[in-house]
Amino acid sequence: PDRVVIVGGGLAGHTAAATLRSQGFHGAVTLLTQESAHPYDRPPLSKELLLDSKFQPMLGPDLADLDIRVHTETAAVAIRAGEIHTASATFPFDAAVLAPGLRARNLPGAPQAMVLRDIEDAIRLRAELRPDRSVLIAGAGLIGSEVATAAAALGCCVTVVSPEFGPAMPGIPNEVLAQIRGWYDECGIELVTGVRAMETSAAGVLFSDSSVRAADLVIAAIGGVPATSWLTDAVEVDRRGFIVADEYLRTTLPGVYAVGDAVSWRSKRYGGETHLEHWQHAAESGQAAARNILGDNEIYDPLPYFWSHQLGHSLHYVGRHDPDDHCAIEPDPRSGRAVTWTRDGRPTAVLAIDAAHLVRRARTAIDTKASVAR
Ligand code: FAD
Repeated sequence: PDRVVIVGGGLAGHTAAATLRSQGFHGAVTLLTQESAHPYDRPPLSKELLLDSKFQPMLGPDLADLDIRVHTETAAVAIRAGEIHTASATFPFDAAVLAPGLRARNLPGAPQAMVLRDIEDAIRLRAELRPDRSVLIAGAGLIGSEVATAAAALGCCVTVVSPEFGPAMPGIPNEVLAQIRGWYDECGIELVTGVRAMETSAAGVLFSDSSVRAADLVIAAIGGVPATSWLTDAVEVDRRGFIVADEYLRTTLPGVYAVGDAVSWRSKRYGGETHLEHWQHAAESGQAAARNILGDNEIYDPLPYFWSHQLGHSLHYVGRHDPDDHCAIEPDPRSGRAVTWTRDGRPTAVLAIDAAHLVRRARTAIDTKASVAR
């Protein structure tokens, strides 16, 4: 190809652009992002950036140094064979990469809760997290618990409400859940489980048990939906809005690839449609799509991985387990612990709690299907 157009300036789009260059592509690369900021790194938005106004969530390398044209405040509004359209321009392409990510879901009602997806959300939120304010966070997932951590550290009175409890994966043993719940107590955060936040109003947040709770600040951390409505029928999306791709990350439109949080691709490893909403996948899928555009024919088949820093602790999860896989909890000699899931004596997933150093070994063990003894 001579011209590659990338839609989305998050990690996946940025990595695809940089990889094209690192693989020796000399043609035109154009990246469209609807944000006013150039590509930046998202994980610090719920961590360092809420605590430190000087923190810069940088993503390297700088695309300008790679002769990549970045158009900020430029939203793609349509795609058809060989062309991406914005409100005022047409960008012809030989190959394209769709990396639009997710947009944060919010609760219905008014006034609206705050959400956290982009840097402007984070800057607005940081200004609101002042000492002694009551902060109600709907959702105890990764972002909810990380924002709760920052809000508590800034002196807010924090309540987290969640219908179920468990850090983003099913089948965590009760002993580990109890440990994580204890972290909320240690940080002085109230955790309310068993009720769902339904909507916001001037009176506060309405819960599924009909109770209403007021707070100075309400934050919805209830996940995201793929930012794909602009694709209409040109590219197949599934019923949840994820872009459908094959094992090479090719969409149904020739020459068009999809990467990052917004893609559901055919996973050879897990035998079906898979999507991941984590940093490592965004980076690796961006690399794989760029290489495939240049003719590599590489099957994209990553081992899922994410990390979270929350409530003064770290979680690292590698692999994927089914709720009925066998589960064992072991202390780690360096003060953390590891939860290992196995099927037929082979590891399927590892959750390392305050034990980041186990991640590499866990990856190798799962990838090589080592026996549990090893
Ligand atoms: P995004 O980063 O969402 O980027 C998509 C970009 O495309 C956005 O800039 C968007 O505005 C733009 N866009 C959308 N539609 C259009 C359009 N039509 N035209 C032009 N531009 C468009 N993962 C971890 O593993 N560990 C963590 O600790 C962690 N922390 C996180 C904390 C926060 C607050 C958030 C939001 C995410 C976190 N993640 C974490 C997840 C990780 O950041 C994402 O998986 C990753 O950013 C996904 O990259 P992406 O490029 O697919 O999408």
